[in-house]
Amino acid sequence: MKQSFLFGKTRVEDPKDETSINAKLLMRAGFVDKLAAGIYSYLPLGLRVLYKIQNIVREEMNAIGGQELLLPALHPRASWEQTGRWNEDVMFKTQGHGGQDYGLGWTHEEIITPLVARFVSSHKDLPLALYQMQTKFRNEPRAKSGILRGREFNMKDLYSFHRDTHDLDAFYERALQAYSRVFERCGIPALVVEASGGSFSKYSHEFQMPTDSGEDIVYSCSACGRHQNKEIVEGNACPSCGGDRQELKAIEVGNIFKLGTRFSEPCGLRYADEQGKEQPVIMGCYGIGPSRVMGSVVEASHDTKGIIWPETVAPFKVHIVALGSSEAVISTAGALYTALHESAVDVLYDDRDMSAGAKFADSDLIGIPYRVVVSERTLKQGSVELKKRRSDETILVDVGELVRTLSK
Ligand code: ATP
Ligand code: MG
Repeated sequence: MKQSFLFGKTRVEDPKDETSINAKLLMRAGFVDKLAAGIYSYLPLGLRVLYKIQNIVREEMNAIGGQELLLPALHPRASWEQTGRWNEDVMFKTQGHGGQDYGLGWTHEEIITPLVARFVSSHKDLPLALYQMQTKFRNEPRAKSGILRGREFNMKDLYSFHRDTHDLDAFYERALQAYSRVFERCGIPALVVEASGGSFSKYSHEFQMPTDSGEDIVYSCSACGRHQNKEIVEGNACPSCGGDRQELKAIEVGNIFKLGTRFSEPCGLRYADEQGKEQPVIMGCYGIGPSRVMGSVVEASHDTKGIIWPETVAPFKVHIVALGSSEAVISTAGALYTALHESAVDVLYDDRDMSAGAKFADSDLIGIPYRVVVSERTLKQGSVELKKRRSDETILVDVGELVRTLSK
């Protein structure tokens, strides 16, 4: 894409009412815009990152047998009354013209369980894993962490359905591995942390990225590698090895739960076993916030000049920066842009009429992994400059070699 065409502009000043690093950098660089506390628009650059993260999540969910669907966000009150959760403070509520009550979805057990009950009746229909990527609404009391804590945010929620706990346990383990792969691919160093299990099992598992901007506290044992959320910690010693534990601040990027029959019982989700006997379906649920992941990447990967995107989630792989407006520069930059594009390399081309300093500042702020500088000076030797956002080193690459170097 040509930068002169791109919607959204960079800003030099930090937004006044944001304190978090992710919000400051993402807003200054033109990835998101704030409408109100916890409510953000995703501009074209930001949406590209969100889609990259979602696609990584999608690939990993499909790989463990997940099927994607899309559930409604607007829920009639009756759906929530069947499980007794209509009055949870987290739900935004609204009314229809006839006075009917609706809630905006903050999670979807109440919707998916009755849906599955309409299609599943036999042990032959199980196991089953369904997921969606959707906007969730939560009436969060504190929304001061930029896109880490939205009142409206994107979530991938997967629900699994099993005939017994043994089958759930096996799937849960595969989901845990899939989650680890998601965070690794996104460049997020996430710890697997035991947290409160809610209604069914002793623990759930959270994926926590240690960072000072985190709102959670994790007790981490470096001796044996067991990590626990502070909410379930009893005493300072590690329950596995007795070793001392370190207290870390962290961001929860994912959470997986064994639900058992908490939702299948009230929603009437049952199946007939081999003997024809009715049994409740055993469930698990697995959440990741792609928008929170995006904010976490920024918290983990930036410097004083701006964002440093890992290649896997970057809005573009290559940023071509053309300096000056000589015929040689414009025609070379244009030809490289076309050639990279044709080799399926995502490229942003800064074709704007601006000073070198301003272009470099924008390029560092936006944080695309590879920068190609096309200037008179190096074109005299038939080359362009190639620099990684992550390092200070610049190398000269023959114009004719660039596409091959970058499409590797
Ligand atoms: P928290 O404790 O941070 O409020 P939670 O435990 O309520 O989160 P879950 O219900 O476990 O969140 O949601 C699954 C995932 O959705 C979380 O791990 C996180 O990645 C994401 N998520 C939850 N709440 C938000 C939010 N307000 N904004 C952005 N992402 C969120
Ligand atoms: Mg959670």
